[in-house]
Amino acid sequence: MPQATAFEQALGTLAPSVIEETIRVTEIPAPTFREGTRAEYARARFEEIGGWEDVTVDSISNVVAVRKGAPDRARLLVVAHLDTVFPDEATPVTRSRGRLTGRGVGDNSLGVAALLGVAQAIQKHAPKGLGDLILATNVGEEGRGDLRGVKRLLKDYQGQFDAVIAVEGHALNRIQLHGVASLRHEISVATDGGHSWGAYGRPNAIALLARAITAIEPLMPEVGVEPRTTMNVGVIHGGRSVNTIAPDATLELDIRSVDPQRVTSLLRSVRAAMRDAVGEEGEMAFRRIGNRPGGTIEEDHPLVQAAVQARSGLDLPAPEFNAGSTDANAALDLGYPATCVGVTTGGEPHTPREWISTGPIAQGVPYLGRTIVNAARLSRSDVARLG
Ligand SMILES: [Zn+2]
Repeated sequence: MPQATAFEQALGTLAPSVIEETIRVTEIPAPTFREGTRAEYARARFEEIGGWEDVTVDSISNVVAVRKGAPDRARLLVVAHLDTVFPDEATPVTRSRGRLTGRGVGDNSLGVAALLGVAQAIQKHAPKGLGDLILATNVGEEGRGDLRGVKRLLKDYQGQFDAVIAVEGHALNRIQLHGVASLRHEISVATDGGHSWGAYGRPNAIALLARAITAIEPLMPEVGVEPRTTMNVGVIHGGRSVNTIAPDATLELDIRSVDPQRVTSLLRSVRAAMRDAVGEEGEMAFRRIGNRPGGTIEEDHPLVQAAVQARSGLDLPAPEFNAGSTDANAALDLGYPATCVGVTTGGEPHTPREWISTGPIAQGVPYLGRTIVNAARLSRSDVARLG
């Protein structure tokens, strides 16, 4: 197919411009909840590429470019998150010996830059037989963003797409099959408190909370047991002064599993065990402070195979099929076929020392472009909702 060849040739020459784009994107700070400036940049780039039905920015700064395709083919929503875990400040990039180093350089500036590069190649060389493409650079993937950007897109574009691909810069050799579901709760105990001498004998909220933590010890999932499940008390605070019976104490609990049902069942057991431990002596409150849904797609699903086949001839290793916590989670939770693919390899994401290798980008961009095109050529029946 000559069109495919022109498209593939274009993909093969994109790496240098994607690297430059990665630097430009990284140098626009985009902490979660303040992605606006980076979003405006992405919108301008989509406009420059041109050829879209529509380029829009919604009220939370998700940027969306829509390209109409053949009606019988799979309609894809492709997302690359804009936000980083780093607070507002200068985010310079340094280049040395085949590496870029900088905050968010791979997570997810490269994801955004590669998506823009592939978008350009698709518009310029128009591979035949694709379904509709909804390409988005979205907000709120990291931390307390709680996937709010992709959740909004899944809602707003409901009925206009069949499958979802998330792009993460670092994940070249991983294809996501499982969304690790997580639930985070703030759990507090309140009592009447009082003077440690004068009111001695009244219940102490810190002691009650400690009892509650001890009570969930037997529920801690074992290491190395499937489905992989973890539980962590990460923060604890409470009390007023050394001579006050603590009137309040709070902890933050994180529960994760590759099996979403395990998360909810474990949380149910935690609640019961803690309430039992505290009894009538204190007032307990559970407040949800985070909810990342999860789900699973099979390795032989046509969407996953679209990514696997895209690797052939690119001299890439066999992919590792992994469990992740990405924008794909929210789509899997709603029953859409979804996965997450990457563009290069690197290290130390979420630290100021984050780096990526520039060499593999020459394979990673064609891999991403082919994955999107392979997936958008599937028939709509191949990408029906997961059972
Ligand atoms: Zn990321």
